Amino acid sequence: MSRLSRKGLKEDLAAEQSEDRHDRMEEACGVFGIFAPGEDLFRLSCFALFALQHRGQESAGIAVSDGKTIHLKKGVGLVSEVFTDLEAMKNKPTVAAVSHVRYSTSGGSRPENAQPLLIEYRHGSLAVVHNGNLINALELREFLEDRGSIFQTTTDSELVAHLIARYGYRDLEASLTSALPHLRGAYNFLFLAENSLVGVRDPYGIHPLSLGKWKGHYVLASETCAFDTIGAEMIRDIEPGEMVIIDENGLTSKQALPSQRLALCVFEYIYFARPDSNIHGKNVHLVRKELGRRLAREHPAQADLVTGVPDSSLSAASGFAEELGIPYEMGMIKNKYIGRTFIQPNQKIRSLGVQLKLNPIYKVVEGKSVVVVDDSIVRGTTSQKLVNMFFRAGAREVHLRISSPPVISPCYYGIYTPTYEELIGSSRAVEEIREQIGATSLGYLGYQNMIESAGLTESELCTACFSGHYPISSKGRENYDEIRRL
Ligand code: SF4
Repeated sequence: MSRLSRKGLKEDLAAEQSEDRHDRMEEACGVFGIFAPGEDLFRLSCFALFALQHRGQESAGIAVSDGKTIHLKKGVGLVSEVFTDLEAMKNKPTVAAVSHVRYSTSGGSRPENAQPLLIEYRHGSLAVVHNGNLINALELREFLEDRGSIFQTTTDSELVAHLIARYGYRDLEASLTSALPHLRGAYNFLFLAENSLVGVRDPYGIHPLSLGKWKGHYVLASETCAFDTIGAEMIRDIEPGEMVIIDENGLTSKQALPSQRLALCVFEYIYFARPDSNIHGKNVHLVRKELGRRLAREHPAQADLVTGVPDSSLSAASGFAEELGIPYEMGMIKNKYIGRTFIQPNQKIRSLGVQLKLNPIYKVVEGKSVVVVDDSIVRGTTSQKLVNMFFRAGAREVHLRISSPPVISPCYYGIYTPTYEELIGSSRAVEEIREQIGATSLGYLGYQNMIESAGLTESELCTACFSGHYPISSKGRENYDEIRRL
């Protein structure tokens, strides 16, 4: 690997591991694709990205094809910051589009890493978006660089684009069929050629990817909430290892890679996905309510009220309250306009950021025994601040309830997690964590209850960050670890 690309990766990973990161598991990007000749797909894609904004706030981008040329607009920032003038985006009738919101897991938060990536190769133009993480990225990069490839970004999308270009078949499907077996990891890729759209899901289906229909045209999205936003109907989930090719002949599906099983990220249900999305037939809000109900049965508390950390824990908190017959209250408010705490420069300012972002309703919690439901504890610093905040607001007792088991292992599949050492759940007992956080009591949902709430079997889920059992063989993971060490 060249010095330059090692340096780039090193910078990216230093940024990734810096203190600027939020004390949360962070989302994995969102993708959207549509094949609808004659429609105004720039604006439609923009609306879909608004619905997927929770999956990534670092950059946004849309590539549209008019049948001859692929046009690209992307930039750093929220969808509303990148696409400021929807009228100006009114385009000539287009054929197909892919779009993306990004939260960097590999590839760092450099402007050039914003997606879609647009390449020119001997058979025309190709725009690529992805979410997830290739665990053999470094190995692939070295392989390609040894053979003369020059990289402009540090994204997995560019790796795959180079592989496709190397195979160089006129038929994109043929190039992909050759390139995909080289990939190891968790991924959804969408490819836009001048007159076709192709979607691929990894053989374990770690991240969700759904197929829908809008005005008779096919659409693909990370989450079904994007379908609702544009008025599309959900058809089905893309299967693990499946490739769909959408063009003027309609949709063709093929099993591009053999799949042993679905291993859907269970954290999608717990935290990442929007409550109005449905994944593999389960509504996220209802799964979270069930997590809360089971949590209440497992770790009941005598309290005056139950409140949830907005927004991801509200559904679980309502389930918890219903189960025990305790009033559910809005105990705190999230200021949605502050932006991301992880862009702030250091721990001291970041701690201010948490207070700016969440504020308790003093009159509601004063003198009360409060159950606070949160979805997870990662490093523990946010939980500590949360508990402090309620005590400062006058709460008599703060019972912290977590609607998932302790996070004990990092994620290698495209979700930002701290290292083993930083994960408070990997080395401390629950009572030690409670003591550090300062809560009156602390209860985590049990592993089995988490599985049963999701309504899928354990073998259909990835639960690695709770169990340490990774569905994809560790071969190649050493590369990921090496990248993290650079
Ligand atoms: S390790 Fe955890 S966050 Fe990563 S894919 Fe598996 S369940 Fe999801």
